[in-house]
Amino acid sequence: MIPRKILESASVKDLYRLMLENRLSRKALFGIVGRRLHRELVVENAEGRPRRVQELKHAYMMALFHGFDRAMTRGYVSRSVTERLLDTVLENVIVNEKHPVGPGPHPLLLVVSPTGRCNLRCEGCYAASESADRAGLTGLDFDIFDRIVTDKRRLWDSHLTIVSGGEPFLWRDGERGLLDLVERHPTEFFMIYTNGTLITDDLARRMAELGNISPALSLEGFEEETDARRGAGTFEKVLQAFERMRRHGVPFGVSVTPTSKNWDTVTSDRFIDFCFDAQGAVYAWCFQYMPIGSSPDLDLMVSPENRLEMLRRTNHLVRDKKVLFADFWNSGIASYGCISAGRAGGQFYIDWNGDVTPCVFVPYAVDNIYSVYERGDDLNALREAPFFRKIRAWQDEYGFKQSADKVQNWLCPCPIRDDFDRLRDAALETNARPINEAAADALVNPDFRRRMAACAGEFKKMSAPVWEMEFSDSATAEPAPRSKLSPGSGA
Ligand code: SF4
Repeated sequence: MIPRKILESASVKDLYRLMLENRLSRKALFGIVGRRLHRELVVENAEGRPRRVQELKHAYMMALFHGFDRAMTRGYVSRSVTERLLDTVLENVIVNEKHPVGPGPHPLLLVVSPTGRCNLRCEGCYAASESADRAGLTGLDFDIFDRIVTDKRRLWDSHLTIVSGGEPFLWRDGERGLLDLVERHPTEFFMIYTNGTLITDDLARRMAELGNISPALSLEGFEEETDARRGAGTFEKVLQAFERMRRHGVPFGVSVTPTSKNWDTVTSDRFIDFCFDAQGAVYAWCFQYMPIGSSPDLDLMVSPENRLEMLRRTNHLVRDKKVLFADFWNSGIASYGCISAGRAGGQFYIDWNGDVTPCVFVPYAVDNIYSVYERGDDLNALREAPFFRKIRAWQDEYGFKQSADKVQNWLCPCPIRDDFDRLRDAALETNARPINEAAADALVNPDFRRRMAACAGEFKKMSAPVWEMEFSDSATAEPAPRSKLSPGSGA
């Protein structure tokens, strides 16, 4: 057993290294790390956030640690991965000493899609809005992507890049592809959204050797749901990829897109147990279907009632099952609302044509990264784009820069999903450019606007009492009993 005195005087990084040595020391250190994070987030709460928001954020962080603990205990994390995790995610992203647990002054990460191409044709995919990259461009140049990653580290001390697509493992520029880029940035951690069908044994081995990459593989539920949307045989290929990554020690996650059809399955305990216990996933990302892309279908959106039920289930998974299931909307409480448009501690998005948008789900561009670099500007200049500034002003006013008792309902924090008309006005006023036909149509289609507003209005009404009773500091009521956060009977 490690003496308590040593544990308490060690640096955060030393603590994590010790934690990784064996299961017993991991358990002992978990207690210390958990208490330390709890003290900083909930007790000291230097930024003055709503207390129960901080408690939930703490639960998310602990769920991530539990995920890695489970994977390490089962031998699913290679040595090189654990070392890289210490140098990248843990030191620079989660416990950055310069801005300990709150958002620093800069974006935390960027989301980049180097290619729009994909080997699958999934129903409703936003990338399918362009069957091939725009004329003259075949995806991002390797050197441009390389420069983006270098610049954000230099300018923002950001060490996290999220790679989406298209299918990122298809991206090549000449001889070089995604893993060559990952290799060039050993202090950067890359999380890759992938359909998983291209993860061969060699690819899994190389990822394990690199150590600074974790793929999140898309599932729509079990075999029936996944193959229905992604094509026959896809589910089986994903299971094979899981097996290869477990064998080589690559930590991985799962990515799900709940729709009106499959939300019940992908948030059920049965599905979560399958992903985390049977398959060994460390985390799961959940992106409720958004009607953007080539043929938006508002009927596929999760209904307000079911969105609320998903919130209860998500909180149950994080708090009670201690699995990191992060829902891009319902987990917005833990990120202090919308993180788009280059918010402090947030992100923005660059697509395969170089177009820069507030986030993957907001298809209105403020600029193009090629033009930005050609005129000698950098990523900071992009943050000053008028459309971004307007969105950030909205985020600040809504809650990000408000005292705890003035924060508005962070259960509906999304400018495009929860306040489409306002986002539309901001896009029009600042000449933000629609990046595809569907995005242009959404600006002028009264039916689209009416239905988005109706959905948002209903959810706002339904979620208001939950926000007040369970999260807001302006509530006079005592914190809700834990049972309120439990899943409904169908989970
Ligand atoms: S714009 Fe919406 S989807 Fe994008 S980060 Fe903000 S809340 Fe999330």
